[in-house]
Amino acid sequence: MPPYLQWLRFIWLPGMLLVLLTAQYLPWIDLTPLYSPQLPIVLLGMAGLLGLGFRSSRVALAALLIMALYMGARAQLLPSLERDLPLYLSLVAVNLVLFTCSRDRSVLSIFGLLWSLLLLIEGVGFAWFYDCCSPLNLVFPLESLPAGLSGFTLPQLIGGISAFGAFALLFLYPGPTAMGLFSCIILLLFSVWLSLPLEFIGSVAGILLVASLLGASYELAFRDELTGLHSRRAFRYQMLTPAWNYSLAMVDIDYFKKLNDRYGHQVGDQALQMVAAQLARHASGTVFRYGGEEFAIYLAGRNREAKEARLEEIREKIANYPLRLRSSGRLSAGASFRGRGGGKPIKITVSIGVAHRSKKLRKPEAILKAADQALYKAKRSGRNCLSIHG
Ligand code: GH3
Ligand code: MG
Ligand code: MG
Repeated sequence: MPPYLQWLRFIWLPGMLLVLLTAQYLPWIDLTPLYSPQLPIVLLGMAGLLGLGFRSSRVALAALLIMALYMGARAQLLPSLERDLPLYLSLVAVNLVLFTCSRDRSVLSIFGLLWSLLLLIEGVGFAWFYDCCSPLNLVFPLESLPAGLSGFTLPQLIGGISAFGAFALLFLYPGPTAMGLFSCIILLLFSVWLSLPLEFIGSVAGILLVASLLGASYELAFRDELTGLHSRRAFRYQMLTPAWNYSLAMVDIDYFKKLNDRYGHQVGDQALQMVAAQLARHASGTVFRYGGEEFAIYLAGRNREAKEARLEEIREKIANYPLRLRSSGRLSAGASFRGRGGGKPIKITVSIGVAHRSKKLRKPEAILKAADQALYKAKRSGRNCLSIHG
C-alpha cells in the first residue's frame, strides 16, 4: 500500500463509529447502555489511564478533555448547556485537531503538564469570553459569509473545518491514534448536527479512544517501527497458515556493517528504510522485516518463473537506485540527483535466496531453512545476486 494510503488500514475506526451511529436508529438493536450516565466516566477514564500507561499523550489528553466537558455538564458548570452544547463540542473538536498534530509523549512530563495548563487557560479564557460577549453574538459574523455558508451555525462551521483538518492530517500521521481522534471529531460533528445526548457522545468517544489504543498495540506487535513493514511476529503467524503453493525469499543487504561503520547508524537506518520501501513497492508478495538488515518475502501462488523474474527485477532496481549522501547527513534518492555532484553516491545491493514449496519441501521451517541456504549461496557467489534453492 503506498504511503499516502496507509491511513486506509485504520478505516475500521470511523467504520465502528458509523455502525454505532446507525445502530441507534435500528429498532431491533438496543443501545440503551450507551446512554447510561456512568458509562462515559468508565470508558473515558479507561482511555485516559491506558493513554497514560501507553505514553500516548494524544489519547490521554483527548479523554481528559471530553471527560472534563462531560463532568462539567453534569455538575451544571457549563452555562446555557442546552443552547450552547454545539459550541462546546466544536471547541473540543478544534483541540482534538491540535492533539493530532502533536507527538505522543508521556503525559507525566513537562510536555503533558504544559498541554494540561494550556487546556486550563483555554477553559478560563473561554469562560471569560463567554461572560463578556454572549455566544449569540458569535453567530453574527456569519451573516457576512458567502451565501452558501451563511446557512450554517458557527459550531457546524467550526466542526466541519476541524473534521476537514483532521482528515488532511491523516496523510501526515497515518496511525490508529490520528484515525481515532478523527473519528471522535466526526462524532462531535454529527452530535452538533443530530443533537445527540452527551451520555452517548461520551460513551462512544470512550469506545473510539480505547479502540485506537488497541489498534496502536496491534501495530506495535505486528509492524516494524523503523521500516513500517510487517514484523517478525507477523511472519511467524503467516507461516502458521501458509497457502497450498507458496515461495519464500530471504533478502539481505550486502556489506551493511561497512555502511554503518562508514556513514553512521542514522544513514544505515535510512538505507534500511529505502530498501524496505523498494521491496514493499515492487515485490508482489508480503514483505516482512525478519531482523537487522534481513527481510523475508512470502509469495503465494505456483508460478515459480514469474516470482524469480520479479525478485531478479527487484534486486536490479535496488542496485540501480540512485542514492546520495547530502551534506546534512541525510540520504537523498531520485534520478535528479545524478550527475549534479550534490553528494557522495552510495551503492546499496542485496543478495536474495528463494525456495519454493515442493513435494520434498513441505514444512514451513524446511522452506525457510532452504531459502536461508540459498541466500548464503548468493553471498558466497559474490553477493548482489539471486540464488534459487535446489
Ligand atoms: P553481508 O554482506 O555478509 O551480509 O555483510 P553485512 O555487513 O551486511 O552483515 P553483518 O551481519 O556482518 O552485519 C549486519 C549489520 O547490520 C550489523 C548491525 O550493526 C546492522 N544492523 C542491524 N540492524 C540494524 C538497524 O536497525 N539499523 C542499523 N543502522 N544497522 C543495523
Ligand atoms: Mg548483510
Ligand atoms: Mg545479515
